[in-house]
Amino acid sequence: MFDPNEVKRDFPIFANNPGLTFLDSAASSQKPRVVIDALAHYYEYDHANVHRGAYELSQRATEAYEHARAQLAGFLNADPDEIVFVRNATEALNLVAYAWGLANLRAGDEILLTEMEHHANLVPWQLAAQRTGAQIKAVPVTAAGRLDLDAFEALLSERTRVFAVTQMSNVLGAVNPVAELAAAARERGALVVVDGAQGAPHLPVRVDELNADFYALSGHKMLGPTGAGVLWGRRDVLGRMPPFLGGGSMIDRVEITSSSYTAPPQRFEAGTPAIAEAIGLGVAAEYLKELGMDDVWEHDRRLTRYALERLREVPDLHLYGPTGEDRGAVVAFNLGSLHPHDLATALDERGVAVRTGHHCAQPLHRRLGVAATARASFYVYNDESDVDRLLEALLEAREFFKAWL
Ligand code: PMP
Repeated sequence: MFDPNEVKRDFPIFANNPGLTFLDSAASSQKPRVVIDALAHYYEYDHANVHRGAYELSQRATEAYEHARAQLAGFLNADPDEIVFVRNATEALNLVAYAWGLANLRAGDEILLTEMEHHANLVPWQLAAQRTGAQIKAVPVTAAGRLDLDAFEALLSERTRVFAVTQMSNVLGAVNPVAELAAAARERGALVVVDGAQGAPHLPVRVDELNADFYALSGHKMLGPTGAGVLWGRRDVLGRMPPFLGGGSMIDRVEITSSSYTAPPQRFEAGTPAIAEAIGLGVAAEYLKELGMDDVWEHDRRLTRYALERLREVPDLHLYGPTGEDRGAVVAFNLGSLHPHDLATALDERGVAVRTGHHCAQPLHRRLGVAATARASFYVYNDESDVDRLLEALLEAREFFKAWL
């Protein structure tokens, strides 16, 4: 098992911001030196456009970019030609909803989502539904903060053409039994789309065991740069899917009025990609692999258990989400009737960075009966001392706001 304090030393942001207790990795993680260096090295030594130039420098850039694709494939236990580079999970999910959804959905079809989805796995499906006449249904979340599995079974039918689900909730920390749900949905002939934005950074993921058709992730939440994410797609599904964006790099032959397209993954990478960012993401994936994703998950769970235990000591603090072993490294809370934004400002004054708001999950917050929550999230560079500082800051904030609670 790695030592989070040693890991922390790999991240320059902490030396440059002494006293910072960073508890917002679920929004975007910090970057290790090797990732930052990879960006600079690429621009200083290897940059040219990819897949175009006949000259050596362009070939080197192409090799580095394709090497990153292989690294991501290794990280997800997939084949490189199933890895499509996109900007982020949002783009990956839009790609599927537009390209697959518009070509395959019809009036009378149903899109099954869940109430704990991030807006990135809701709104693209709403847009696809509006254009095709398909209907959206959602699996409810129980009072215990988990998916209602009986309701899932009841909602699944021959009409279900898509089942889109998050691997881990960015608010509740609940980890969904995706492989089982996916198997049931695929048995009915539904396309299964997994939002791995919170899963990929924290859980060992083998897409070959997930029973899904698509898996979306954001590189910037898993130690990589912003601007690079991945859509993994099952080879035969990708092969049958029409393009999303048209332009250079994704075509075979172009006439004035029509074109034919290249095979995946290039078919879905129109235009010049985020080359340096993809390379940086490849390095991030290697860094995580070296830490060991089993150990990352173990570390996250242990820290989350510790956080839940300690936070229960704070009077008037309401914690959201399930208890149990399979809970990921986010903890959402509210202090009495205090607006979470005021609470987060008070925590920030004490050097503790947490996120507040609806965390792009308004339907879930409606289910929880609140407009907003504060959220602390942990990653490989956090340890118990960060939780202790959060606790101290919360107790001080409570003292300060006592009259308003
Ligand atoms: N899904 C989930 C579960 C998320 O937590 C996020 C990021 N908050 C996203 C999707 C969207 O990620 P991005 O903004 O990087 O596209």
